[in-house]
Order: sequence, then C-alpha cells, then structure tokens
Amino acid sequence: MTTADPLLQVTDLQAYFHGFKGRRVVQAVDGVSFTLNAGETMGLVGESGCSKTTTCHALFRLLPGAGQIVGGSIRFNGEELMEKTPREMQQIRGRDMAMILQDPMASLDPLFTIFDQVAEPAYYHRRLRRKTLRRRVVDLLTSVRIPSPEIRMGEYPHQMSGGMRQRIVGAMALAGEPKLIVADEPTTNLDVTIQLQYLNLLRDIQKETGVALIFVTHNLGIVAKMCDKVAVMYAGKIVEQGDVRDIYNAPQHPYTEALLKSIPKIGDKSELYVIPGQPPNLAELPTGCYFHPRCPSAFDQCRSEMPPDFVLGHGRTARCWLVSNEVRSG
Ligand code: SF4
Repeated sequence: MTTADPLLQVTDLQAYFHGFKGRRVVQAVDGVSFTLNAGETMGLVGESGCSKTTTCHALFRLLPGAGQIVGGSIRFNGEELMEKTPREMQQIRGRDMAMILQDPMASLDPLFTIFDQVAEPAYYHRRLRRKTLRRRVVDLLTSVRIPSPEIRMGEYPHQMSGGMRQRIVGAMALAGEPKLIVADEPTTNLDVTIQLQYLNLLRDIQKETGVALIFVTHNLGIVAKMCDKVAVMYAGKIVEQGDVRDIYNAPQHPYTEALLKSIPKIGDKSELYVIPGQPPNLAELPTGCYFHPRCPSAFDQCRSEMPPDFVLGHGRTARCWLVSNEVRSG
C-alpha cells in the first residue's frame, strides 16, 4: 500500500440473505462502493432498516448464518479482505479493524472483569504481558476518561454506568491499535449530555491516534459534528455521498434533503418534518428508484428505471434521475 492509496476501498459490495430453502433472496447490501483514507471519518447514515449495520458486518466478513457476500471487493490496508481465510480474518479483526456496538452489554461479558476484557485484544494481537499489559490497560482506561482506572479495572460491567460501559467498549476497540474503527450507533443508548461527552471523546482519540472512523448513525446532526464525509444509504444502496459540507449545503438526492429537513432545530417552533412512509421491505423492493413511493419529486422514469450512480466530481455521487442531465454516468 502506498501513502496515496486509501486505507479502505469498498467496490460494488453485495451481501444477500437467503430465505428458507433458498426461496427468497434479500439483497441487503446492493452494490455499495466508497473509500476512506487513513485518519478520516465517514458517516454512514439512513433510517433504520437501510442496511447500514449489515454493510459494516460485511466489511468485517461477519454476516450471520443466512447472509453471504456474493460479490465485490474490500481492499483494506493494501490487502484484499475477500481473499483472506477465516483464520486470517480473525487476526485482522481486533488488531487492524475494530467495532463499537450500539449496546455495550453486547460486547461486554458480565462474568469477566474490565481488566480481562480490555486486556484481551492487547494480549492476543500485540502480545503484551504482565506489567506492560497492566500499564496498557490503565492507559487505555485513562484515555477513555475512566476515573481511578487501577481500581475500576478490577470491577465488573454491572458496576459501571451506561456511559462508562460504552467508554470501556471504546477502550477495548483501541486495545489492538487498529487503523479503522466502525462505531455502530454508539450513542443511541446514552442520554444527551453523555452523548456529547462520548462524541468529544471519540474525536479526541481520533486526533491522538490517527485512527479512521466509520460512524453509523441515523442522526445527521452527529455527522455534521464528527465527519469529513458522508454516505447516505437507502434500501441497501448508497444514494448519495461526498464531503459533509457539500452535502449539507446542497444535497442532490431528495432522500438526503428529507433527512436534513427532519433534523430538529433549536428555537424552531414549527412542526417537525417527518419523511412520509417507511423504508421498503428489502424482500419486496419497488421497481425503479427504491425511493420513488416516498419521493415528492418522482416522475415516470423513476417508477420504472433504477438511476445509476451519477458522478458529480470531488468524490461526490448521487443516484437520482434529477441530476442525470447535468452529469455523466459513473
Ligand atoms: Fe426521487 Fe426520482 Fe430521484 Fe428517485 S430518481 S430520488 S424518485 S426524483
């Protein structure tokens, strides 16, 4: 990998779920492509059910039983992850790429101390032992602002508050010294003041370590605060992506526009905008553009033909017929 190469390059990634006796195939991730440079933060946004989490699991090649990656490429740190054996992937996970889940209790084992759980990635992936390992755990807990780390590391997850548990999961993710962290809605279970502290903490850690971050959220307000670029997902596809400021200033896709309109604004007493309808069932997708049943700008072509990814320059793309006359097809 040269310094000019992106840290992560995902090309036309497809992940499907096969139904009972293979009768129904759900195209959960359908031709997803994006790049992420070292130290960059990308927001992956969209409503629940748009396959943001499945996309992240696919990056780690960790799809549940019925899920399968059926096509595409995941180049990470100069290597093709699709060519790795399960054992090689085990080495890469935790050491080079790590994940922070929405519910910290899904990552923490109630039967083990905080020390055991934070030490594990450093023990296996960085081969730290005894005093060096202990020092590393104390440093990691200090870096995620756990008070009295020497004492707290002897305690169990149930003795921690929700905010502390989420920070400990952050320490576990950092323990292997990864180049990429995927944080899947890490603030959803935290109250608003703790959310802000956690976001600031993630940003500080990123500045200190230079780790790249994929931030999965349905909250575009958080993306504005945290991210350099953003990819908007709808029904298993990225419908718009680019630099955060470009997209916030001039969204090209009606779905992005609707998400931006639905951010609550302080002092605005008018009724909160709600996107009409629901995201589609991935097993029964509409014809044409998947957003057309909810789109205020839909016209005939939208109902019959899926728009391609139109390239708008500077890493910006939008999958909408409205931009088709202005740009060349990607
Ligand atoms: Fe709306 Fe048509 Fe654009 Fe789809 S292609 S987002 S339906 S205008």
